Amino acid sequence: MGERLINFNAGPSILPVPVLEEAARNLVEYGTAGMSIMEMSHRSKEFDAIIQDAEARIRSVIGVPAGYQVMFLQGGASLQFSMLPMNLLGAGQTADYIDTGVWSSTAIKEAKKVGTINVAASSADRKYAYIPKPESFKLTPGAAYVHTTSNNTIYGTQWASAPSFDAPHVCDMSSDICSRPIDMSKYACIYAGAQKNLGPSGVVIVIMRDDLVARSPETLSNMLSYKNHAKKKSLHNTPPTFAIYVVQLVMKWIEAQGGLKGIEQVNEAKAKAIYDAIDRSSGFYRCPADKDSRSKMNIAFRLPSEELEATFISEGKKQAKLHGLKGHRDVGGCRASIYNAMPLAGCETLAKFMDEFAKKNG
Ligand SMILES: *Cc1c(COP(=O)(O)O)cnc(C)c1O
Repeated sequence: MGERLINFNAGPSILPVPVLEEAARNLVEYGTAGMSIMEMSHRSKEFDAIIQDAEARIRSVIGVPAGYQVMFLQGGASLQFSMLPMNLLGAGQTADYIDTGVWSSTAIKEAKKVGTINVAASSADRKYAYIPKPESFKLTPGAAYVHTTSNNTIYGTQWASAPSFDAPHVCDMSSDICSRPIDMSKYACIYAGAQKNLGPSGVVIVIMRDDLVARSPETLSNMLSYKNHAKKKSLHNTPPTFAIYVVQLVMKWIEAQGGLKGIEQVNEAKAKAIYDAIDRSSGFYRCPADKDSRSKMNIAFRLPSEELEATFISEGKKQAKLHGLKGHRDVGGCRASIYNAMPLAGCETLAKFMDEFAKKNG
């Protein structure tokens, strides 16, 4: 096997090596089951134990109070952009959305196909370089829900703390779920595609309070109905069994890191290593994001020219095994995605390479 690269991919992205190794050990035969998890019925006792344990660990790691459903769904976070208004937005109601980047504006576009949407705040005026301040929110009294995106994967901004709303708060946490402790009782729903912080692509975790689950209209197709998925314990149809198994392993790994408190400490040190390299470069590197809105998961940065950015990316790959540093095609530049599984040493290697590159080319 070749040596592993330092993987800054935005998603699908790096997974903890012990998780990959354990999944590999069980790939051909799960324990003594005589077959792989991929070959088992989703109604077998082995898989039942896996999905129940995965759910229990998600509940304990995140700290989900009683009165919430945990669902394992498909269709990516992107299908949630449609399912949320289809299930939660009643006739004549309005949902508020806060627009902080590509994913939240996509969520808004999809929701507008379903019902009445009010954009309560937006940072589009400065190319999504900041998180809007609560004083600027133009919220709808009696809104069906308020939708936010906790971390903006492409622009590299993140809410420093959760805002409070009167209406139920629904949050897309695809790119920072389980990266820090949260107070789940402040949210009515959080959801995330697994492929950034929780496991492989193919499964979406939706955690939703019972009163929202109960809103699903009976006329909705079963595959689109939260009420149906919750009632069937995510087994209405064949779920992505192997992906759910890997999520279970990632949850065990998070517990072994000291839970979300332990994970947060390391994540802070990782982000600091790279932002410090940016800030001490005398302007060679710059972050489009405002300082108080900087993301600890996706660090977007620019160099003095696009030519230097291309050289930085290719030399980083050749000299230091740094992989996946190209920014999103919509915004260009560079981006280091440093999800939970990225070790501090990977960020330190990047920071050192940044120092050397700036000295040589500045
Ligand atoms: C990646 C991402 C999505 C899209 O996820 P899919 O699983 O590809 O649909 C949505 N929201 C955020 C914040 C993301 O980072």
